[in-house]
Amino acid sequence: MTLIKKVELHEFKFPVNNLGNLTGANSVGAFGYSKGEVSELKKFAIKIITDEGTVGEYVTHWCSTASTFAQSCMLAPKLLGRHAEEREGIYDDFKRELRQFDHMGHGPIDIALWDILGQSLNTPVWQLLGGRRHKRMPAYASGGWASADKIGDQLLSYVEKGGFKAVKMRIGVADGEVRHSAERVEAARKALGDDIDIMCDAHGTYTVAEAKRFCRMVEEYNIAWFEEPVTADDKKGLAEVRSSTDIPIATGENEATRFSFRDLAELRAADIFQPDLAICGGITEAVRIAAIASAYQIRLAPHLWGGALMFAAGLHLCAAAPAAFIIEYSLGANPMLFELSPEAPKCTDGYVEISDRPGLGITINNDFVEYYSVE
Ligand SMILES: [Mg+2]
Repeated sequence: MTLIKKVELHEFKFPVNNLGNLTGANSVGAFGYSKGEVSELKKFAIKIITDEGTVGEYVTHWCSTASTFAQSCMLAPKLLGRHAEEREGIYDDFKRELRQFDHMGHGPIDIALWDILGQSLNTPVWQLLGGRRHKRMPAYASGGWASADKIGDQLLSYVEKGGFKAVKMRIGVADGEVRHSAERVEAARKALGDDIDIMCDAHGTYTVAEAKRFCRMVEEYNIAWFEEPVTADDKKGLAEVRSSTDIPIATGENEATRFSFRDLAELRAADIFQPDLAICGGITEAVRIAAIASAYQIRLAPHLWGGALMFAAGLHLCAAAPAAFIIEYSLGANPMLFELSPEAPKCTDGYVEISDRPGLGITINNDFVEYYSVE
């Protein structure tokens, strides 16, 4: 049994644009999301150390909040003296602890515990999840913030960088009117030709009516999926959008726990689930969500935006999950993905290899974390 002896937590932050020196071969351009580019990121790192000397780590991603940090600080002492093999029990205990909050505080801990278990057994996490169905996963390039006159070149630069067969672009509120988003999609399709899939992500910024209008306006451009058309608070609205179009609807990066995904499935609101492993409750909960997806003929494509550890967690899940079909690969200049670890993910010919290394197969560049730690 693997006894948890020590848990360390610390915060750090860094200015994105001053980092430079990117080691990831696939990264291009700025880092941002639907509301624009980001100039500073704030994170926290959790390190769980066992009596065997194995270390499970997780570093939170861009959407981590003070609440997440506070929750993890509250839970950390409760890990001491427990065994990594008790992961399911720890999950249930912590879910009760967090019942009055969201569940983001537990996801990082759960991912770190899976990492420890894999290391202690000298086995990759995907083996513990049921075995590897693929040696590599197809990936799509995620980015696409440019205006209509530049979006074609931006997306083509992604395709050239990693041999991607699919790209995702941002649409929605930043474009002003729906017709401007549709113009950008039209420009993207014309530049990419017919053989590259295009996904569109509105980050929940449309009303139901706007989302329906967008679907109608881009009907002829063969969109692979339309992601978060409306706010995650409006699952019935999402179902209404889905029933109005044959464009597949993707959602889930803002959902916590299997219960939210069950509701989406019951409402027939989505074709593709995109759990964020840190937000949804970790690998433990993501496995349950993947099972729901499989039972409802919903495909799985996790939100892998956050960083190298979260990317690895999602990749191991997809390696074993029957519903998984593609993974997200951020093309923004995200140092959490490309500089946090020497094992930063690489994409070649549109595929990412699934590692044989024990645990999640990721080590942390401690110089990076220490240099940017908050005093
Ligand atoms: Mg998204």
